[in-house]
Formats: sequence, C-alpha cells, structure tokens
Amino acid sequence: MDAAAKAIAPGAIVNVRGEDGRGFGTGYFNPKSLIAVRLLAEDCDAAIGQDFFAERLARALKLRDSLYGKPFYRLVHAEGDHLPGLVVDRFGDTLTVQIGTAGMEKQRGAILAALDQLLSPATVILRGDAPSRALEGLDSHVETVKGKGHRIAVEENGARYIADLTEGQKTGWYYDQRDNRAFIAQFAKGKSVLDAYSYTGGFGILAATAGARETVCLDSSAPALALAEESARANGVKIKPVKADVFEELERLVGASEKFDIVLADPPPFVKSKRDLEPGAKAYRKLARLAAQVTAPDGILMLASCSHNIPPDRFAAECAQGLLRAGRKARLIRQAGAGPDHPVHPLLPESAYLKVLVYALD
Ligand code: SAH
Repeated sequence: MDAAAKAIAPGAIVNVRGEDGRGFGTGYFNPKSLIAVRLLAEDCDAAIGQDFFAERLARALKLRDSLYGKPFYRLVHAEGDHLPGLVVDRFGDTLTVQIGTAGMEKQRGAILAALDQLLSPATVILRGDAPSRALEGLDSHVETVKGKGHRIAVEENGARYIADLTEGQKTGWYYDQRDNRAFIAQFAKGKSVLDAYSYTGGFGILAATAGARETVCLDSSAPALALAEESARANGVKIKPVKADVFEELERLVGASEKFDIVLADPPPFVKSKRDLEPGAKAYRKLARLAAQVTAPDGILMLASCSHNIPPDRFAAECAQGLLRAGRKARLIRQAGAGPDHPVHPLLPESAYLKVLVYALD
C-alpha cells in the first residue's frame, strides 16, 4: 500500500494489474479496508453502472426463478453471485438491500435503478446497519428508499411468517435455513420440540404446523418472540415463547432432567473474527454437550454455526466432542449449509458460512 494507493478515494473503481502489467480485471478499492480490492469484472476498464448491475441481477434472478415457485428468497448473495458487498432479499414486491462496502455504496444509485428496471418493487428498504460497515468507514442507518411498510408476510415451506424488515435482525428474515427447517419438520409429528435461538420461530413454527405436540421457542429477544407468537397464530398453531439466555436455560433444563424429542440450536456467530476461534470453538462444544443432554432418547439434535471463521471440519469436531462428553451415541444424518439462494463462490470457502449438522441420537 504505497502513498499513491492510499490517496485513492474509498470505493473508487480501479483496474487490477500484476507487476508484469497483466490485467486481472475491474474492481473497487478501499485503502481503509483489510480487503483492499474486490473484483467486479474479469476485464480491465469494464463499465460499472446500471447496465452492469442489471445484467448481474438478471442472472441472479434467473437462478432463483428456476428454484422457487414464489418470489420469496435471497436474490443476491454477495460474492456468491459475483456482486461482492451486496445482499438483496426478496419478499414478494418488497426488497431489503444490504450494502456492506464503500465500493458498493458508491454504486448505490446504479444498483437501485437496476433493481427497479428488473423488478419494479413497491418497497425498497436499505439495511445499512451491519456492524461490518464500520470496517469500510461507512455509517450505520436504515432507510426506506421506496414505498412504505416494514412488516410483511413471508411464505416459506407452506407456512406464513411475519417479518419486520426494518426493526428485525439483519434483513429481517433468515432465508438460509429454509431447507433445514423443512428437513426437521419431517420428524415433528407428535413430538416435543425445543427451538433454541429461535429468533422469530423459523424452525419451531414449521415443526408446529407439521404436528409437533409441544414447541418451545427460546431466545433472548422479546421482539423476536412476539413475532414468533404472531406467526404461530397466523398458522393456527401454538408455541411456548421463553425469553432467556440459552446456556442458562439449558443448564436449568439439565438440572431439572427435562428433555425434548427434537432439539435445535442455531446460535449467533460464536467466532466473530479469526482471533475468537479457540473460545468460540469451546462455546460450540459446550452448546453441543448441553443440547445433547436435553435431547430425549431416540431424539433428533440439530447443531448449527453461521460463523464463517470456523471451518466445517473444526465445527464438526467440536460437536462430536460435545456429544461424547454428554455420553450420547449419535448417527449423523444430515450435513448441510444454506439453501441454493445463497450460492458459494468456489474460490471463497468462507462464503459457505452456514454449517448444519443433524444427528439421530440413541
Ligand atoms: N433459528 C433462527 C435464527 C437464529 S439467529 C431462524 O431460523 O430464523 C440467532 C438468534 O439468537 C437471534 O434471534 C438472537 O436474538 C438470539 N440470541 C443471541 N444470543 C442469545 C443468547 N445468549 N440466548 C438466547 N438467544 C440469543
């Protein structure tokens, strides 16, 4: 990073060349970020504007159109869709847009125009409140740039959920777990379910609609649990919301020898940066142990990690240790990630951030 590079404005469009002058493509630059350049196009001097984004977005849309019958999905998954720094979730005629880098922030007008050109959305909400924006020197704000209204109904796996797109976490809804929710629901009929880190009940409500006898949604967020209750009503089912810290509640359940037929643990990232790997790995191991201890004989246990900073084999090893310490014999029956509306960039293993393991316990 020489003086000339440092003088380039954050987010500027640049050509990337090797020392031999060979062109690697067009990207955007930020001298303030650890990831100084992100590539947008393979050619140098590519025109980056509305047409460029319209073409990339059309490609992203085509893939989703072939996957889903209804317009509810992640439309753009950053690097996975060759649009680093941009995430767009679609909820019918409403879009939530997350811009994570100075480079994409500079293209905001072109991106919004391209989205309009392609989809004519009624409502567009900019969720500019991801903490990672600070690393790019960006501010934190949420803004409705088109239309109005922040509460919408999400249709997924045949269930209806209420999501709050301005006040909710991230873009308001976690589409990444769609296929895993459907997988778990297969086991739910007549069973008791503990949905730990439930957020607004993505797993628990689907299990309840599939005939679960009892569904506990456990989360530390009161607004998330209130939405879970509303969504349960919208589907004509009941859930039991419990507002507590998951580790504390699991310790209490272990002490009281209370068990559930199906236990799900989908926590926030325990490994926020590479530095947190060891303490984070330990927390996953402990969670696996406690969750296994409250799983009934012949029960189903799902353990998940959304930390891109812990590799899949390390996460699996910690879960295995936790099961061992709980003294539970297990058969691993599903190893999954996010759904196909969250494509992974083949050269960026970190873009496969979600790891989900499902075990059948003896
Ligand atoms: N399973 C959810 C997504 C979970 S996101 C779904 O399918 O949509 C992680 C959740 O963990 C958030 O709702 C957050 O409020 C909750 N959370 C974070 N720390 C927690 C803690 N210590 N105890 C309980 N819940 C916690």
